[in-house]
Amino acid sequence: MMKQDLKSLNRKEMINWFKKENYPGFRAEQVFNWIYKNGVDSFHEMTNLPEELRSELDEKASVKSNLLLKKTLQASDGTIKYLWELTDGETLESVYLPFYEDMRHSVCISTQLGCAMNCIFCATGKGGLVRNLTTGEIIDQVLEIQKDISSGEFGKPGITNVVLMGMGEPLANFDNVIKAVEILNDEKGFAIGIRRITVSSSGLVPGIRRLAELNLQLVLAVSLNAPNDLLRNTLMPINRKYPLDELLSAVKYYIKKTSRRVTFEYILIDNVNDSPEQAYELVSLLRGIKCHLNLIPLNPVRGVKYRRPAREKILLFRDIIEKNGIAVTIRQERGPDIEAACGQLRHSGSKG
Ligand code: SF4
Repeated sequence: MMKQDLKSLNRKEMINWFKKENYPGFRAEQVFNWIYKNGVDSFHEMTNLPEELRSELDEKASVKSNLLLKKTLQASDGTIKYLWELTDGETLESVYLPFYEDMRHSVCISTQLGCAMNCIFCATGKGGLVRNLTTGEIIDQVLEIQKDISSGEFGKPGITNVVLMGMGEPLANFDNVIKAVEILNDEKGFAIGIRRITVSSSGLVPGIRRLAELNLQLVLAVSLNAPNDLLRNTLMPINRKYPLDELLSAVKYYIKKTSRRVTFEYILIDNVNDSPEQAYELVSLLRGIKCHLNLIPLNPVRGVKYRRPAREKILLFRDIIEKNGIAVTIRQERGPDIEAACGQLRHSGSKG
């Protein structure tokens, strides 16, 4: 019999599972508390549960980690990159990013093994999609990093921000991702404020509209990377299915439903999308949309021919956007000495 992975269930589902197995609902609350407030991964350590119940649960369910740590790389700025192996032998990446100046402890996690979107500047897209991650596999990335960074006591320091922006397109694994967000946000789970959870999408229009209906108040980040369809078609094949007018209309719908500002991510690539003309074109595209633009100078990827623009070009691009009244920032570079861009550790790990 396949054991039920309890980390793939949100609290309500866990209570229902316990009831279905003829245990009182409060036992589920106790187990939930052990997992997320104490970082316990064995029923036998759950000391306020009768011993008989612990043994029974051990037969039917699992709270063990779905991830086996294969490798970590730590950068001089405190960034840690993790490579995990899953139970089926596949590998997966996540990154921990501490921001000491404002006490933020952020993690960037993956939602799929590989990715079907095939963006040309990305290492993950090269191998195609292997499969969706389960909710338990998504949650375990946060749990395991939390254990790793805790000094002595689980949750100290606590992870404050979660970004679903690693490998994969989160909205293509919608149900598992939303359930993971619920567990992360649950006050009896990780209790991470919903506005500190970011879901990043390459522009999967139906997923954005579905997310809008949920009105979750999380941060939606849309990876834009080009100011027109012609260029975006070549950088991000998803644009051929959902071109910019459809994408921006879904984004406006999201803003209307949630009253939240949307973040647009724009990876700056030398001589591809970084000219002053393209900055002006971007201004016209985004004018009137309640948004924030995040410029990300490309992290060079092995096997990908694109380069990062020179600093002056990046600043000029930013200035044009800013002077035209659009909120814009340049993403601070993190962990450059450890290949911190998405997909790179897995890439180098699997290629040996
Ligand atoms: S950038 Fe994101 S959406 Fe595009 S291929 Fe890479 S992982 Fe997939």
